[in-house]
Amino acid sequence: MQLRQSQNLGLKDWEVKANMVNELVWFPTNKCLIDGAWVDSELNNEIELINPSNGRLLSRIARASKNDVKNAISAASVALEKTWGEKTALERGRILLKMSQLVIKYSKNLAHLESLDVGKPLSQAKNDVIALARYLEFYGGAADKIHGMTIPFQNDFSVSCLRERLGVTAHIIPWNYPMQIIGRSISASLAMGNACVVKPSEEACLTALAFGEIATEAGLPAGALNIIPGFGFEAGQALAASKKVNHISFTGSLLTGISVQTAAAQNVVPTTLELGGKSPQIVFDDANLKRAIPFLVNAGIQNSGQTCSASSRILVHETIYRDVVEKMSGMYKNLRVAPAIEDYDLGPVISRRQMDIITSYQNKCSDLKLLAEGSLMEGTNNQGYYMSPKLFETENYRHSVAQEEIFGPIQIIIPFKNEQEAIKIANSTDYGLVASVWTENGSRQLRVAKAVKAGQIFVNNYGAGGGVELPFGGIGRSGHGREKGFESLYSFSQLKTIANFHG
Ligand code: NDP
Repeated sequence: MQLRQSQNLGLKDWEVKANMVNELVWFPTNKCLIDGAWVDSELNNEIELINPSNGRLLSRIARASKNDVKNAISAASVALEKTWGEKTALERGRILLKMSQLVIKYSKNLAHLESLDVGKPLSQAKNDVIALARYLEFYGGAADKIHGMTIPFQNDFSVSCLRERLGVTAHIIPWNYPMQIIGRSISASLAMGNACVVKPSEEACLTALAFGEIATEAGLPAGALNIIPGFGFEAGQALAASKKVNHISFTGSLLTGISVQTAAAQNVVPTTLELGGKSPQIVFDDANLKRAIPFLVNAGIQNSGQTCSASSRILVHETIYRDVVEKMSGMYKNLRVAPAIEDYDLGPVISRRQMDIITSYQNKCSDLKLLAEGSLMEGTNNQGYYMSPKLFETENYRHSVAQEEIFGPIQIIIPFKNEQEAIKIANSTDYGLVASVWTENGSRQLRVAKAVKAGQIFVNNYGAGGGVELPFGGIGRSGHGREKGFESLYSFSQLKTIANFHG
């Protein structure tokens, strides 16, 4: 494999200017990280990254070809046989911990890059950096603490089950939370001793590249982490269809998830799919509204609603319905939308295409009552992709906007009469990612939490996917497999049973 090495991209060292520069075009971000080197893509072709806050060119990234993907997979396979594969669990853990420390060291720059690239308010991007560091810390600490088991079989046998790595793992990353999703997926896989090939989204890619630089600085051996920016239909598809990949972790849309799983099935490769949702929060008449209201709203508008675990349906008991409507509307009227770096409540959405999708859903809301909306601040009358958050109400929980994932700042509030009806409405969509139950009644908390179909249920809280330690994943069309917590370490490994006869 002939690869041409380039100098460091310099993204992690990028000095944040006091006046918050909005363009990065001078950075050589048009490279792939393959076998520890920053190389040109074979096609020598680039993809333009657009700044969602002003619609202008932000930077250019590489357009990886099928051959580049092949090279990245080969580099990962070689690292497994040599350098990376020879590390002990303790050594792997220490490298991840070092990466975590470096993420903190460069946190200001990472947050700024993520904010510019994704269009999310700066303070939300800062939280994402902290989450990335925390994933690396959690899995770095766990690397040497995950054990196999022994089984008391027949007396003349000793049976042990070893937990072994899978091999080369592929990670297909969406644009909404690049840092967090790379963090949760890569760190668990590396902790188990796998080598990774990452395909970031063509729409937001800069922190993925900066992360590659951080991994190199932390001493991660060449080939253990390869990053191949490019188009989904090209680089993504080639990665998903590769016979040499041993596991695929995908986060994104339902349709692309189905396509990835279909490709993986041809090679009998396991997948973890996280495909979004239509997550409900159920508010009973004894709920502590002072605590609940900010969670009800924030879980819907965070990252402009472009969050897999966004809570887009608010189900409220009829006796407190008007009160909740009034309180949520009050919050909505104070929500402000502004360029990401100015750090108001919402930034722009990611792209013109996403804006068009959300607008089409807004149009479908024409027969619903609009209760309240936020306001666009100065600076949003440029070419950026700004949308004010909107709160609608309906009694028709079967309405398409109350059933389909919108992936934008729209929440629907729906009344219910009793517990049975609340559960029926909550379970009425094809999705099941996250839900919450707001009530002070202990037995109802558990009853409803058990009855609602979702992979993660909060009681008197809502964590938008929250908690590095907490297993997370979907039911039904929200996907399958679990990420986060120790569960993820099981997903990125396999058990080998050794039955030793010594009679
Ligand atoms: P996709 O699901 O198409 O993209 C997610 C990732 O998959 C990206 O890296 C993408 O690359 C890649 N990809 C695309 N096609 C293929 C393929 N055939 N094989 C392998 N990888 C592929 O989401 P979009 O960005 O197109 O967004 C569309 C909708 O998806 C949104 O409106 C939203 O509803 C949903 N979505 C859900 C997310 C979640 O967190 N659950 C995250 C993002 C989107 P590339 O970017 O180059 O196309």
